Amino acid sequence: MFEMTSSNQYEAVIGLEVHAQLATKSKLFCSDATTFGAAPNTHISPITMGHPGSLPKTNKLAVEYAIKMGLACGCTIVKENYFARKNYFYPDLPKGYQISQHTTPICAGGTVQITVEGKKRHVQLNRIHLEEDAGKSIHDIDPTHTLIDLNRAGTPLIEIVTEPDLFSADEAFAYVTEIRKLVQWLGVCDGNMEEGSLRCDANVSVRLKGEKKLGTKVEVKNLNSIRNVKKAIEFEISRMIEVLESGGTITQQTRSFDASNDTTFTMRDKEEANDYRYFPDPDLAPLVLSDSYIHAIKIELPILPAALEEKLMKQYQLNAYDAAQICESLPTAQYFEATAAHTNQYKSVANWMLGPIKSYLNEVGLNYNQLALEPNTLADLIQLIDAGQLNFSVAASKILPQLVDGQKRDVLAVATELNVLQVNDADILEAWVDTAIASMPDKVIEYQKGKKGLIGLFIGAIKKISKGQADPNKVSDMLLKKLNK
Ligand code: ADP
Ligand code: MG
Repeated sequence: MFEMTSSNQYEAVIGLEVHAQLATKSKLFCSDATTFGAAPNTHISPITMGHPGSLPKTNKLAVEYAIKMGLACGCTIVKENYFARKNYFYPDLPKGYQISQHTTPICAGGTVQITVEGKKRHVQLNRIHLEEDAGKSIHDIDPTHTLIDLNRAGTPLIEIVTEPDLFSADEAFAYVTEIRKLVQWLGVCDGNMEEGSLRCDANVSVRLKGEKKLGTKVEVKNLNSIRNVKKAIEFEISRMIEVLESGGTITQQTRSFDASNDTTFTMRDKEEANDYRYFPDPDLAPLVLSDSYIHAIKIELPILPAALEEKLMKQYQLNAYDAAQICESLPTAQYFEATAAHTNQYKSVANWMLGPIKSYLNEVGLNYNQLALEPNTLADLIQLIDAGQLNFSVAASKILPQLVDGQKRDVLAVATELNVLQVNDADILEAWVDTAIASMPDKVIEYQKGKKGLIGLFIGAIKKISKGQADPNKVSDMLLKKLNK
């Protein structure tokens, strides 16, 4: 490895290109289905295949989704767009060109807010453009042949391109996490990186700190998890610094990530810039967007995560951490607000949602929009605990499992049935306290002489006498008063 002192003189610069598959039912330019995992080559009409005489037609919903994402990132929506043909040969590209956007991306500029170590920063975007995906080459089924599945060809993507405005692997990690959250929040992409709905190319360079000019970049292709984005960038940064420190020069390359050992390897050196011979697709009319159309999409946007975090802090007094966790997804935030409508114990709602309920959901692999526990039932549970009738850990371990089975249940009825309700009637509690004290007169004297540790013994006795039904807070208050008299 390189020496710490020398590596500290360098700064990394990163630009990310994220491809997000839009959650439309049909492809970008024809009605073929976009279903994941269909039998190979079953969704390949003549338009997908680019047969002579076939004509593409733009999917309106895909355009709307691209604009949604652009508006959410504060981009300028470009009102006059055209689609361009990006010409290259590859077996999984049936038409011999990809329909993309070249000089007129549908969204220009914009920013994405990231939080790293509690600090918020806006990452500058270059553009978001619409394009179609290619098919898939499959190398690991047949030992001697590459198989081609063209189902994915023509699937709508947006490519979200940052400026070289990220400066560490952690920032890149936070950025992709945020992009995934945003596309899911807006409903424009399912964000599933395992299925390839979200893929990332990382452009990485290093330069001496204080240097204005960007260093030579390397592009690491097709990173299919957020962890891999981080690992690939970490590896590249160390590798490049090592090359420079040993007197070498960085060559511009396209590299690939090897997840088995968290390293990258060369795919190809960039000999010269590719000549894609872009030109406007003559089969597609330019896309002209009116102000009223853009406005109509804008007013339909849900409140965005950053704004909702602010709102949760102001309206419900949540701390920044809880607010951020609750805004992890739109269904989570909606569940919080639905529950907060039934109780003013907001902090408890957050604690329940981020603690026992989240553990349960993780365990069964569900999301908040699939949770069978009604928000008002959770509110009832919280009220019961607040009233001292129920103990939190008993509620979490015994009652919650009964409430999430999808059947509507009354919290009080379940607690009564399980016999876990706490008694907080002062007379009954006092009687239990008195019984405990009366059973150990010698311990009372020892306690009063200063052996304060004996308090646990009394509490234990009360627990036993009350069969665990005494509200521990109230009981210990009473006990202290009586013993310290
Ligand atoms: P290309 O034509 O090779 O695709 P672009 O200029 O379009 O390159 O940039 C692609 C991505 O690479 C963008 O996200 C951009 O911010 C990033 N990028 C460009 N130059 C550098 C650099 N020297 N270091 C890091 N990232 C860079
Ligand atoms: Mg590129």
